[in-house]
Formats: sequence, structure tokens, C-alpha cells
Amino acid sequence: TATKPRQPILKTALPGPKTKAIMDRDAQHLSTSYVRPYAFVPDHGEGVWLSDPDGNTMLDFFAGIAVSTTGHAHPHVVGAVQEQVTKFTHVCLSDYPQEITTSLAERLVKHVERPGEKWRVFFGNSGAEAVEAAVKLARNHTGRAHIISTMGSFHGRTYGAITLTGSKTKYKRGFGPLLPGVSHVPYPNPFRPPLGSTPEACGQAVLNHIRELFVGVIPADEVAAIIVEPMQGEGGYIVPPADFLPGLRALCDEHGIMLIYDEVQAGMGRTGKMFSYQHFGIYGEVQPDMITVAKGIASGMPISALLAKESVMTWPVGSHGSTYGGNPVAAAAAHATLDLIEGVVKHPGCGESLMRNAADVGAYLLSELKAMQSEFPFLGDVRGEGLFIGLEFVKPDGSPDGKLRDRASTAIFERGLLNLDCGEAVIRVSPPLILTREDAETGLEIMREALRGLS
Ligand code: PMP
Repeated sequence: TATKPRQPILKTALPGPKTKAIMDRDAQHLSTSYVRPYAFVPDHGEGVWLSDPDGNTMLDFFAGIAVSTTGHAHPHVVGAVQEQVTKFTHVCLSDYPQEITTSLAERLVKHVERPGEKWRVFFGNSGAEAVEAAVKLARNHTGRAHIISTMGSFHGRTYGAITLTGSKTKYKRGFGPLLPGVSHVPYPNPFRPPLGSTPEACGQAVLNHIRELFVGVIPADEVAAIIVEPMQGEGGYIVPPADFLPGLRALCDEHGIMLIYDEVQAGMGRTGKMFSYQHFGIYGEVQPDMITVAKGIASGMPISALLAKESVMTWPVGSHGSTYGGNPVAAAAAHATLDLIEGVVKHPGCGESLMRNAADVGAYLLSELKAMQSEFPFLGDVRGEGLFIGLEFVKPDGSPDGKLRDRASTAIFERGLLNLDCGEAVIRVSPPLILTREDAETGLEIMREALRGLS
């Protein structure tokens, strides 16, 4: 018998009185740097649903910025965390090996290793820390200083990471001087092809641009690394053309440059493969030297990882470390999350694995959202892979319409769907990977109604 799909519950106007009281205290005492786009305060969650203290329950299509892979309070994750907390919560991985992190590293490298090529793992706490570690390792290993990053990228808020970041200027304004030796090249965005190119040719155009830099601007033999998001997250959920990463790999090989993939947002099964780069050809052609991982790895417990080829992870003993990095409780959450992503443990209604579910429900969402473009001409582009989908709002002349995106985002929120913007005029769809087709339909219907109310 078919049960009625669950719907958001809106008991009060948003914010309700309890939510409002917390928001007021928050405004008094928390850092002025925090953004507060929506009148929502989480109180408790269950799966893809989050409730506030006033009894309003929202459907979660942003997952704490692509973090809550297994949804909220997943029993398998909760159990793993509880079990580890009763054993020990901290010793310090920099000084003492811990089986839980050893086995986590063994598990992670299985997704990238190939015959004759071993990988190693450094554990940190956040995406930015994994990125910092990657930059330090690239410089240390190559003895070169220069790093090339991309425009529109986001790599975190620490000094090295904001320097690499190529999106909003507010991340950098007033914080300089930044890290020396960093350059940015355009990202091959097929919807807005850079360098006067076309959707098909923009990957090659960016590669040619880098080659030109090597001739007259940055000596290639001074470049330690190129860091790139294989699918760009904060910049607008952008999928590059298929020939970009293979071309980048070849270019890096030619000049002895480390290729770093920042998989912090798109990795860990979100796109339907463990890492988003794995969509681009047989893996030898696109295999990087290092991968940064965070966000979706542990369902919200703070842990990040830098994965690097064994031949590359050559920094000396004691040269890099972290007090909390690879914390055992977070590592337990990562194991439980991986159990579900890989399908070692099944989630009811999600088929063989969460990775597979992300591919299937994501393909359904993408095709339904694309179909909405005929009703809503301001949806200029709908793109993505798996549960990593971007909707770009455009003006009639095709230029980005950030104002309309903001109105749409608020209207969607007010109907009970948590969502988040990115890029100049994009709404990202990045729900927990346990999203069922039924809950996806509920979200789609909310979006349709909200967009209909806009004009
Ligand atoms: N890299 C990418 C691709 C990201 O999307 C983010 C976070 N949005 C980061 C790095 C930084 O991660 P964190 O906030 O955990 O430092």
C-alpha cells in the first residue's frame, strides 16, 4: 500500500517565537562574519528532515553544504560514534597510531590505488586543512614554489586556502597580504565559456592559456602544483568538458607538476562515483597526485583527509601534523558513513548503496529539473552529476540574475525546503545521499510552486 509522501510541516510563520529568540541571542554574541540567509534554527533532525524549536519541519536539500551524506542522526552513524566515545575520544594521531584511523586510511586508498601504485593518507579536521596540507606537500616534494588555481574556485578560509580561492572578493578583501606564488586561470565552464571559446572547446582553451603562461609568464619548472575542483562547487556547481582533466594530467606530466584534485565538496559518492574526477575517463588518464577530502566523509563529524601517492608523500617525519586531525570519534563516523556510501550497510529504500542512490535519484532530479526549463525560461542552465546539481538563473539577455535567484531561494525556503545559493546566480541541490525518489518529488513540487509564484 502506498503511503502518502512526507511533507514539510509549517506550524508557525518563519521564524517562530523560539527560533526568533535564539536568532536574536545569536546576533548579540556570535562573530559578525556569519551569514544568516534564512530564519531557521535546527533543533533536531531525522534523515532528510530537520526541525526547529517551534515544531516546523523542513526538507533538507543542502545537507549542511554537502556534508550530511547519511542525513541527520543516522542510526548507524550514531551507533558508531557512541561506541567510540565510550572507548577514548582523543590521544593524538600525530604521535600514536590508532586502529580506527589506520583502517579508515586503508579503506580510502582502495578507491584510488591501482596495481603498482600505493597511496597514503594525512588526516586533518577541515577542508581548508586538507588543502593547506596539499600545498605544503606539493612545495616540499617538488622543491618548487608556484601554485596554479582556478577562477571561481573555493578552497577554504585559512591563508593558503583563501589565496587559492578564486571566487568572491569578500573572502580576501582586507585580509592581505596573502600567500606569495599563486596564480589563477579560468575554469572551463561550458555554460559561460571563458577566453572567447565555446562550450565544447573551453577545456582546451584553458589548457592553451596555461601553456601560454608557461612560455612567457610563469616558468613551468617553478610550478609545484595545479589545484582544481574536478567539478566546481561554490563557484556554481559546474561540470567541465570531458577532455579537460585528461589534458590537465598530460600537461602536469610533461612538466613534473603535481596535480591536486579538491574533492571536498563533490567527493565521497555525491556525484554517483566515490570521487567526481572518476567520471572523466579511464582512471590512469585523469589520476591526480593528491586528493583533498572532507565534508561528506563523516556525516558532519569534523575530519578531513589528504590522499597522496606514496611516491609523492615524502615530507620528513614531524614536518606536518595536527593535534585533533583524524580524531577517533570522527573517524568512527567516517567508517559508518563509508559503510553506507559503499553499501556494506544498506539504507532502506536506497538500493545497493548510497553512491548508487545518488546516481539514480540524481539522474531523476536532473531530468525533472531540466524539464522545468521550458516552463521557467529564467532557468538558464541545469547541470550536474548525481546529487550535485546547479540551477542557474538568467536575465532575458542570458546574463546571471542573482536577484531573481535570491528571491527564488527565499520562496523555496518559505515553502519548507532548505536550499543554498552558490556562484553568482545559482541554487545548488545537494541533499543527503539517502534522498528517496519520493522525497525528491516532494522537493521538486515545492520548487515548481515557488518558481511559479515568482513572476
Ligand atoms: N574545498 C572545497 C571544494 C570546498 O567546497 C570547501 C568548503 N566549501 C573547502 C575546500 C573548505 O572546507 P572547510 O570549510 O571544511 O575548511
